[in-house]
Amino acid sequence: MKNEFIGRTTSYLIAIVLSLSAAGRADDPSIALCWIGPHGQPLRPEKDPLVFSRSTLHQHRVERDGARFRLQLEHRARPGPRLRVTLVSVNPLYNRVRDRLPVTMRCGSNGRSCRSPWLVLVADKDDLQRIEPPGRALRAAVGDRVEARVRWGGGPSRSWAIGVGRPAGEDHPTSLRQLPLRMVVLADPASGRPVVGGDEPGAKRVAQFQLSVLNEILAPCFIGVGAPETVEIVVEPAPGPCLLTVAEELGLPSGGGEIRLQVDNRRLGPWWIDRGLTPAQTAARLATYLVEEGLKAEVTINPKKPALAHATANVLVRAGNGGLARLSVWPDQRLSTDRQQPLTIGRVTLGDGIDTTDGSGLFGGSVEERTLILALGDGIAHTVDVFLINRFSISDRQGQSFVRASGSPLRNSLLVDWSALWRTRQSYTLAHEIGHILLDDPGHPDERGDERTELLMHSRSSSARRGPKRILPADCQKMRRFVTEHLHR
Ligand SMILES: [Zn+2]
Repeated sequence: MKNEFIGRTTSYLIAIVLSLSAAGRADDPSIALCWIGPHGQPLRPEKDPLVFSRSTLHQHRVERDGARFRLQLEHRARPGPRLRVTLVSVNPLYNRVRDRLPVTMRCGSNGRSCRSPWLVLVADKDDLQRIEPPGRALRAAVGDRVEARVRWGGGPSRSWAIGVGRPAGEDHPTSLRQLPLRMVVLADPASGRPVVGGDEPGAKRVAQFQLSVLNEILAPCFIGVGAPETVEIVVEPAPGPCLLTVAEELGLPSGGGEIRLQVDNRRLGPWWIDRGLTPAQTAARLATYLVEEGLKAEVTINPKKPALAHATANVLVRAGNGGLARLSVWPDQRLSTDRQQPLTIGRVTLGDGIDTTDGSGLFGGSVEERTLILALGDGIAHTVDVFLINRFSISDRQGQSFVRASGSPLRNSLLVDWSALWRTRQSYTLAHEIGHILLDDPGHPDERGDERTELLMHSRSSSARRGPKRILPADCQKMRRFVTEHLHR
């Protein structure tokens, strides 16, 4: 099999020699290198990129990996002395070496045809250990260049390059899908201290590390946020009382009543609300009153819970200059005299954790989650907003996402707490919550009877070594489609 295979590839190798010579990368026609794909087929470096191991198994042999590849070397001159080959992954943005792997070549009896054992690319360091036998995996990232650096005899080192995935923008299963993402790190409003990292530069470093791990997990799908230092990361104080919610508990129509609101120490109202208005209509009426006072008011409607009469509504209030308003109640007065359709003021208080209601996120989140996301999100539904918070009020919650299918104004946003950050490589919470958004599905495989704990979308994190981080090929396809159709800058 081996000899047949070498014969089959010889003519292709000569073609490669000629094409690479023309490109100036290999000007010595006496030596040629070819990249060989998993089925023994020669890869065309311009068209057939290397891909990542897609196995969902924790430990497996490289020969069984569908993404395996090997190197094939031909030397047309007399066999030279010692051959040295190193595989190197290079980050093209900075021309910096990411990883290197010495490769032992086995040469035929004439010494002119040599080939490497099967090799594979992995995206994260932990995965270097899962490929057997050891020393067969090279770490790389989407968009990297992999170089085979060859020294044969006393001559200079020569190299042949191939890409990891195809360029972004191409309609190809391995072309990069750029995930547009913005990160907000919450800070204590009194001290200005962010919930992670100690200060603003520290918070940004923590956030960037999270993004680099996210890139590793999504790499087998050829989805990524780009270089973490190019992603927008902002530190923002937790919003004060700036949101009005209408008919929070029951979603009932108005019974009629007066509203008295204090905005930044100005007493506004009383404003009359007629009987029989839906929460959305009341919110619109309130917005009109607020705008008449020179304020800005953004009305959003929450997804309707089945048990409610109507969908509830929110009004985010800003000062004329766009800064968040500070809402309160008149002294000794009620906010609204309408007992049927109550008004609530939403604010974020870090001390007791962020309130969160239903785990699915399908019904628009708690008042506190809405206040946070509506006040500090970029308001653009086609970018993903990530909020790093201190903790949730429910102790076992580490992340919460709001999927597009919910129809919620919070869609394509997610919250991740501090405990998820320090367990980054055990629970992969950020990637898991992003997975919900990209799959547009709040469900988990284990709820459908698939108990593979190594899967990223499994609802319970597993052991540190195994890490729930594998994405099934069909899920990769769905995620890539979601990025293409729904997310863009
Ligand atoms: Zn989940």
